[in-house]
Amino acid sequence: MSVIQVHDKSFETFLSEETIQKRVKELAVAINNDYKGKQPLFIGILNGAFMFASDLFKNLEIDAEICFIKLISYQGTKSAGKVVTSIGLMEDVHGKDIILIEDIVDTGKTLNDFLPGLRHQQPASLKIAALLHKPDATEYPLIIDYLAFSIPDKFVIGYGLDYDGLGRNLKEIYQLV
Ligand code: 5GP
Repeated sequence: MSVIQVHDKSFETFLSEETIQKRVKELAVAINNDYKGKQPLFIGILNGAFMFASDLFKNLEIDAEICFIKLISYQGTKSAGKVVTSIGLMEDVHGKDIILIEDIVDTGKTLNDFLPGLRHQQPASLKIAALLHKPDATEYPLIIDYLAFSIPDKFVIGYGLDYDGLGRNLKEIYQLV
């Protein structure tokens, strides 16, 4: 196990690159099967989901589109409790099969705030793919259709996730010591 320092905090390895890549491929296989003959639109939620979205998308064999939105809810290692849309959705989702790509579902507030507006635009279907879920932290329960890992309620970084801007480039996922 390796320990790294980011800003003022120490983090230890939690999920290896190999473990992450294997699981992301498994999710892609499930999506390939479920969406055979369809052409879903993936909506990645920036910033944290960019790496997961990229790897998931690379492993798809169906025709699919992708776009990104930016929702901000975190400051440092704590949820700010308020969700701000800083890049909104430009695409018309009406009648489309939508798969939202989220890095981590923590309290569930981000998706809980965003989903009603999306449903209002009447997509043909709406599913959620998330890299991580912290069930013990969830205050707004929701169904995650494609979940890579369920994890303890500890702050994590790496593979797209940051601590105050740093750590996103790590290939592994690290947990706060
Ligand atoms: P929620 O609204 O579900 O509480 O939080 C969702 C967002 O908070 C995630 O998309 C992510 O940006 C951020 N977040 C939640 N938990 C963590 C964590 O452990 N590490 C990092 N880096 N971000 C987190």
